[in-house]
Amino acid sequence: MLGAAITRRVPATPAREPRRSVRVAGAAAVPPPSYWDALEPLLTRVRKPAQYVGGEHNQVARDWGAADTRWLLCYPDTYEVGQPNQGIQILYEVLNERPRTLAERAYAPWVDLEQLQREHGIPAFSLEHHRPLWAFDVFAVTLPHELGHTNLLNLLDLGAVPIHADARGVEDPVVLVGGHAAYNPEPLAPFIDAAVMGDGEEVTLEIDDVLAAWKRDHLDGDATPGPEARRDLLRRLADVEGVYVPAFYEPRYHDDGRLRQTVAVEPGAPALVPKRTVQDLEQWPYPRKQIVPMTETVHERFSVEIFRGCTRGCRFCQAGMITRPVRERRPETIQKLVEDGVRDTGFNEVGLLSLSSADHSAIGAVARDLADSYEGTTTSLSLPSTRVDAFNVTLSNELSRNGRRTGLTFAPEAGSERMRAVINKMVSEADLLRTAELAFSEGWRHIKLYFMVGLPTETDEDVLAIADLGIRTYEIARKHGRANKVTISVGGFIPKPHTPFQWCAQDPPEEIRRKLSLIRHAIKDHGGLKLRTNDPEEGVIEGLLARGDRRVAPVVERAWKLGARFDGWHEMPTLETWMQALEETGVDLDWFSSRERDEKEALPWDHLDSGLDKAWLWEDWQDAQADKELDDCRWSACYDCGVCPGLSIEHDTGYTGGFQLPVLPQGLGGGSQELPTAPERYASDG
Ligand code: SF4
Repeated sequence: MLGAAITRRVPATPAREPRRSVRVAGAAAVPPPSYWDALEPLLTRVRKPAQYVGGEHNQVARDWGAADTRWLLCYPDTYEVGQPNQGIQILYEVLNERPRTLAERAYAPWVDLEQLQREHGIPAFSLEHHRPLWAFDVFAVTLPHELGHTNLLNLLDLGAVPIHADARGVEDPVVLVGGHAAYNPEPLAPFIDAAVMGDGEEVTLEIDDVLAAWKRDHLDGDATPGPEARRDLLRRLADVEGVYVPAFYEPRYHDDGRLRQTVAVEPGAPALVPKRTVQDLEQWPYPRKQIVPMTETVHERFSVEIFRGCTRGCRFCQAGMITRPVRERRPETIQKLVEDGVRDTGFNEVGLLSLSSADHSAIGAVARDLADSYEGTTTSLSLPSTRVDAFNVTLSNELSRNGRRTGLTFAPEAGSERMRAVINKMVSEADLLRTAELAFSEGWRHIKLYFMVGLPTETDEDVLAIADLGIRTYEIARKHGRANKVTISVGGFIPKPHTPFQWCAQDPPEEIRRKLSLIRHAIKDHGGLKLRTNDPEEGVIEGLLARGDRRVAPVVERAWKLGARFDGWHEMPTLETWMQALEETGVDLDWFSSRERDEKEALPWDHLDSGLDKAWLWEDWQDAQADKELDDCRWSACYDCGVCPGLSIEHDTGYTGGFQLPVLPQGLGGGSQELPTAPERYASDG
């Protein structure tokens, strides 16, 4: 209903006074106004007002006049979803450690506050000082998934910044995007100045240097900069490795609508933009001063990234593909980060993060040492992403010495052995059932299993195997206690760029719905087995934006103008709005979503280099269709995916710098769980 209220109104953009005096470097700058006094009286009229207050422990509130460059780091969703984001917290800290750089944070206001902001002329603001978005030099937005695109446009408009990059002048902030969805920023091309690909730590500081130099050259003198000055800034940004400036590239199409090529049209712009990779995480032990939220958030814990990257090769997993190779933190660094962080923040939960945390080559020692350190205290430890194997239960037992053994999550992802071979999730049914047996016998009370439907080559038999696996796990649960629970969570698969499945067709929502109802029907006589499902409609928008090209940009803009916001939230049923936008812009949804691409077709992200060879991805796609699995290259031969030679390294290494040995003998299973890329807001079905 909130969405409907917004849909029918034309957004009014808060007024702004563009003043160069706000943007110049150092003491000469006039600090922009704080909107706190105007905002505070409105907060009694919105839900969860504490999210807009700021003032959290470890917040950095720097003097405007002491900075040469000023960044507004943004997660384009609510504070409760975005506050724990590690990427923002890391960049916030590394930028604010610089003596002459200031970084503040912003999140998307919920629709109730947005409406009041527009009525009262309050622009999008930073949390630290409630400074207007338009006053910053950089508006840097992290896009962990594609469902924040309309919120990005909305924040720009609410922040009194032109939504089109070509309408921005020297006094407007530079609009940057990063995160996984930035690996195909084409649907956002007209709205952003640049996309930053890969790890942010080093490249962000290089961009900061570029910006400081550009300001010295163009803003800080007496002369009024001309329109060429902004172009000069874009050129300087394009020279930074890992930075893609869409204005310097043009897509060319075949007559039948397929993309022919995206070409660089600016002299000096690279034909292929490489991603950035931080090779030694030990150099970047962040966040050290994790910000403690003022109000409820989706993860309230001290988080330490124990390694980055994943080479398990799950073919659906964009995160695993684009973050190769694996780079581990040393156990002693992890221990110190946890000790310092827990002491400083007062969190009583610690999360050891990565795409597959149990795969750290020293995870056993890490878990044991941390469990020893916190035994007898109220601090609990967790591995948020878990492999399907007995070793993981042992690890979880170790980490839960202090707490109750409530729930474990496993991600077999597919129900049948054949389907798991297709997606390269090397877990056998025996692995899963043995793991469940062990977990319930060790006192765990609840197992949650993640699956997908709509995977390539899937048959109804494969879909029904999900129900069967759920039922068999539930039977084990009941054997160990009548109160034990099993939940199967099933989402619709969305093909993503830079994965072997980037060529495949996405199931339309009606087909996903049909498959979900097959599962629902198959488990109907097992009342205690819970089924939770994703909304199939959400997948439609995410799929369109994930693999769309620049022709999708008008759809994004039109959907936003029609009122689309918070596209990943069940509370905001925006599909109808998107369908209207597609119709009005004449863009064919099926052409982008449900069409299988062939080997020859140029893809909208071909000029963006994730390090993976396209030929290798195609070969892996062929292997998938032949049900052929590929081992984790950390434990076997290199498969020549292309990543390591590009970084001048021979093979993935662990923290010791040596060749990785299997944590478990192969055959005992394993499998990584993809970290959720969208707010987990499943509709319960039973
Ligand atoms: S280049 Fe070889 S060792 Fe490196 S990530 Fe790719 S397959 Fe693994």
